Amino acid sequence: MDEALRIQQLRKQLETYAREYYIQDAPTVTDQEYDRLMHELEDLEAGHPELADPNSPTQRVIGAILPGFEKYTHARRMLSLGDIFSREELEEFVARVRKEFPGASFVAECKYDGLAMALHYEDGRFVRAVTRGDGLTGEVVTANVRTIRSVPMYIDAPGHVEVRGEVYMPKVSFERLNEVQTTLHLPLFANPRNAAAGSIRNLDTSVAASRNLEIFLYWYQNALEHGINTQAEALEAMHDMGFPVNMDFAICDTVDEIWAFIERIREKRSGLPYEIDGVVIKVNSLEQEEALGLNAKTPRYAIAYKYPAQEVQTRLDDIFLTIGRTG
Ligand code: NAD
Repeated sequence: MDEALRIQQLRKQLETYAREYYIQDAPTVTDQEYDRLMHELEDLEAGHPELADPNSPTQRVIGAILPGFEKYTHARRMLSLGDIFSREELEEFVARVRKEFPGASFVAECKYDGLAMALHYEDGRFVRAVTRGDGLTGEVVTANVRTIRSVPMYIDAPGHVEVRGEVYMPKVSFERLNEVQTTLHLPLFANPRNAAAGSIRNLDTSVAASRNLEIFLYWYQNALEHGINTQAEALEAMHDMGFPVNMDFAICDTVDEIWAFIERIREKRSGLPYEIDGVVIKVNSLEQEEALGLNAKTPRYAIAYKYPAQEVQTRLDDIFLTIGRTG
């Protein structure tokens, strides 16, 4: 097929999938298929700079702001993450960072599959929760986030604190929810991520309250203002303030160490009580993070390694041979 035509086709197709995923919380294709098409588009666009378009799905943080929610402009954009699928791409990422900061170290963390959320505190009081939205502006979902029991309403910290993390639905809550949906003859949710997003972006607060949502915090947005200099210290500080933080992260100086973490989490993954779809690798120094800055829609200081789709195993218990209609 003509490459220019294929680019147009992919842009349209990815827009449709993004609408189903972000607005309707009801995807019709797997994330792997979506990622594959996105990479095909990126490769084609790289070969045709004359067809560049700032509206292309490759150029912007795709998301949606639902009507009915108050809007809030983020102090610092909430971004997506570039994704990688191999050790070679990990080596390239580390080399890119080390070209600017030869001594850089990294933090490796689980990549939770949920809905990104910013929590705002003023003089220790929880005042606001905002979704990522389109990256610049998000939806204010404070009332729904108040129903998440592990979100502290008061913290011991002066001034303005903004922390960011992922709201997720634990696997057991997701299974129970779909059992209830089945009993009520209602449509099933595709996965815990979409169920969590649909619960938080519902104008009826009792829906979120009934869904047993949880949160993990992984960025301390204004950490430098509070005298914190590294991502590892930021995770510790958020943990000490009473936020749910997964302390199973690793500070890594080499690609081997990052890869060992990726392998260890791969082993643990299916036994975790929540869904993860990869590992996020972040530059540890927050000053280096600021200096590295951003690409069009993703940071240069962090990247997501994504695991291949989890294989579903089917056990064949027996085979019954029958004679077909035609013998
Ligand atoms: P992403 O999910 O690939 O990665 C970015 C997100 O990771 C961040 O916004 C953050 O919310 C999250 N994250 C989780 N753990 C983190 C941690 N420890 N540190 C930092 N961030 C962490 O990117 P995205 O833009 O949110 O979504 C794009 C992805 O969504 C696609 O790659 C695809 O897999 C999926 N998608 C699927 C469809 C579909 O139709 N199936 C459509 C659109 C998007």
